[in-house]
Amino acid sequence: MSATARATLAVGGFVPFTTVDYPGKLSAVVFCQGCPWRCGYCHNAHLQAFTTGVWPWAAILSRLVERQGFLDAIVFSGGEPTAQAALPGAMAEVKELGFLVGLHTAGMYPGRLAAVLPLVDWVGFDVKAPFDGKYDALTQRDGAWLPVRESLRLLLSSKVDYQIRTTLARTHLDGSACSELQRQLHALGAKPTQWQTCRPPATAPQNPA
Ligand code: SF4
Repeated sequence: MSATARATLAVGGFVPFTTVDYPGKLSAVVFCQGCPWRCGYCHNAHLQAFTTGVWPWAAILSRLVERQGFLDAIVFSGGEPTAQAALPGAMAEVKELGFLVGLHTAGMYPGRLAAVLPLVDWVGFDVKAPFDGKYDALTQRDGAWLPVRESLRLLLSSKVDYQIRTTLARTHLDGSACSELQRQLHALGAKPTQWQTCRPPATAPQNPA
């Protein structure tokens, strides 16, 4: 599995140190290449295309070995990390190095999320809108909300620690949509969402440094 991950995980960016991408932990962020959605406010649009990325996975691992004892956690972000079949192998390698594993996901692949949850210590889970047609408009994909709700159910039943985050896209979310989203989350037994402005703090550098 390790050799497969090294050969195939497509990485579009790497931030070697951050204090804001895994609550309470010093972490590095691996930005996985590729995402099937097209949210208008995407702050990492260069990560949307399913290309081979710009960072060899072996180079990322070398950087992480240098940071053993200094960093607490490695966060897989994107793009959409669960879009890549190599993700479980890459996470396993990170865990073998002694790091906690964080995952940022928009939840569009429930089966793949279920496969990596046993390897994950914390999830930052994006919920973009109430579970209805607003999701389709925001992501420019039909039926986008259906797998997200299923992924959230899987996450909640896994007992993995998590934070739900929602980008406050005023073009798609008015006051009543925000209230409806919180009502739906409460009904599912989830924590309230954390509202974010349209530009999160970490964006992926496009080239290896
Ligand atoms: S799900 Fe995330 S990475 Fe994908 S297009 Fe939307 S904001 Fe960008």
